[in-house]
Amino acid sequence: MLELLLPPPVDPLWDLTEAFGADTRPERLNLVLGVYRDESGATPVMAAVREAEIRLAERSASKEYRGLSGNLAFNRAMLSMVLGPDGPDGPAERAVAVQTVAGSGALRLLADLICRTRPGTTVWISDPAYVNHRPIMEAAGLTVRTYRWLDQEGMLQDLAGARRDDVVLLQGCCHNPTGVDPAPDAWEALAEMAVRDGWVPFVDLAYHGLGDGLDADLAATRMLAQRVPEVLLAISCSKNFGLYSDRTGCAVVIGASRASLRHAETALQNAARTQYSMPPEHGAAVVTAVWEDAGLQASWRAELDAMRHRISANRTALVEQLAALGRGAEADVLARQKGMFSMLPLSPEQMLRLRGRFAVYGTTAGRVNIAGIGLDRIPCLARGIAGVLEE
Ligand code: PMP
Repeated sequence: MLELLLPPPVDPLWDLTEAFGADTRPERLNLVLGVYRDESGATPVMAAVREAEIRLAERSASKEYRGLSGNLAFNRAMLSMVLGPDGPDGPAERAVAVQTVAGSGALRLLADLICRTRPGTTVWISDPAYVNHRPIMEAAGLTVRTYRWLDQEGMLQDLAGARRDDVVLLQGCCHNPTGVDPAPDAWEALAEMAVRDGWVPFVDLAYHGLGDGLDADLAATRMLAQRVPEVLLAISCSKNFGLYSDRTGCAVVIGASRASLRHAETALQNAARTQYSMPPEHGAAVVTAVWEDAGLQASWRAELDAMRHRISANRTALVEQLAALGRGAEADVLARQKGMFSMLPLSPEQMLRLRGRFAVYGTTAGRVNIAGIGLDRIPCLARGIAGVLEE
């Protein structure tokens, strides 16, 4: 059987990470993967997470199986965090949530739900998109079309082609890979189009808290959930709780009414059952312990704010230094971006030269992890960018 296996495509990000591992230059900078790093280059366990883990270990709750929806208190915490305290008639009252294997698992379960509901549904993804959006949607059997992202007029024009019951995958904040989000009026226009044309917003939330602050980053998602009858949410706790390897996330289905949701949870559970049965408990228990304890939640919010401030201080320093090196136009492009990623205004050839000459590793398309570098190394990055632009 195995002789039939064709050489599979190599994951470009892990390929670059391997190349970085083999690079012996002391000044090398790995800005490829989307992982938050502190000034010392470490990806820390957040203080509130550590404390919650200690408390959970002391309580040593049983590791007995949970249900197919995972940790129910975690699911409630996710609804409360993402949709906000909105009273008895708010979207949380017409939502079901199922714990998933991180954000990727939520994307896949919801894609399965769409496919079971209407096989062959068209899902629109941004161009450029998060590298896994197309593969996950296609693996579930959906048809993928794209809409322009960086040109917001173009985005609205392309999405005018979305039909009733199509699904439009949007990133709620801190767009990966561009770092550029729609302006508030563009979000309003999207909500109006969804209601008028009958397509379903599917919001991927992976970086809330790392752009303008937790509530500000969730504002567009909350507005969509208020206005549009049906909305899907894929929530990741990987970045904002630093729980990357604990695979913690949640799939949410918001319906027009409570009654419209009667099969949604079972459909998600069935999708989970045929893939992995139940999600891992640990990360969900940690998030719940942090969310439900006022002191731990305050500590978590403060640390998340500090992470966000570090990212934006890095970006500001890069913008200033590029401008000082005579690269004002490129600096202006970067100044409009936010969150963990920036898209450098460099061609694939220039990105290759940045790697070859300056040992700076970003993706070939130009994405760099702004949270992956210490402030003291920003001048090297700025000199590298200016250097390849001059060649
Ligand atoms: N969506 C986006 C936009 C992402 O960037 C990521 C992670 N890089 C994910 C979803 C999935 O994250 P995870 O599965 O690690 O929670």
